[in-house]
Amino acid sequence: MNILLFGAPGAGKGTQSELLVKKLSFLQISTGDLFRAAIKNKTALGQTAQSYMDKGELVPDSVVIGMVDEVLANLNGKNFILDGFPRNVAQAEALGKILSQRQLEIGKAVFLEVPSEALLSRLTGRRVCKSCGAVYHIASKPTHKTGVCDSCGGEVIQRNDDKEDVIATRLKTYAESTAPLKQYYKSLGKLVAVDGDRNSEEVFVSIKAELGK
Ligand code: AMP
Repeated sequence: MNILLFGAPGAGKGTQSELLVKKLSFLQISTGDLFRAAIKNKTALGQTAQSYMDKGELVPDSVVIGMVDEVLANLNGKNFILDGFPRNVAQAEALGKILSQRQLEIGKAVFLEVPSEALLSRLTGRRVCKSCGAVYHIASKPTHKTGVCDSCGGEVIQRNDDKEDVIATRLKTYAESTAPLKQYYKSLGKLVAVDGDRNSEEVFVSIKAELGK
């Protein structure tokens, strides 16, 4: 089954995707990660995306939809998780068209529910490895050595868009554009809401149960 994971910034989409990849062999399609890779590689796509990401705004629909379409054309039969896409109803509608053209289907749209107070501390405390993308938190999952990745020894930094002024815009964008997806997928009979305000293993067990695994 293919699934999509959505929720507010900091709800744990990346962490849960990582577990789904490791434990259930899904292919993760994270639009945020794809943009960050494009920025790192200094491509034209990266340049376009960065100007929006730095402000906490959504990258234009045409750009992100084209990028996802290309990825979905090259799946090689793997079950996938869409992580961070769609981010609004227009993207969800475009996704529906792409999937039906490619004879693919999303089985469940998993919504990670986390109260807004928890989101802020998750986001301001989040740190990421510049090299391998491993995710840490200054309080709940610190690196053994400050600023150094436990997995690869790379530099661990705060994402530009995890700084407080940008977070405010991201949360507002989420409330206005992404939260309506709950109703959208509910009306398609695909919505599954999971309490994301628990430790990541507990959340993962609930997701697994929802997927019948
Ligand atoms: P994320 O890593 O999912 O939190 O995404 C980081 C940033 O990338 C977002 O704040 C947006 O600027 C951009 N982004 C990621 N996915 C999308 C999307 N589906 N549509 C538009 N912008 C996106």
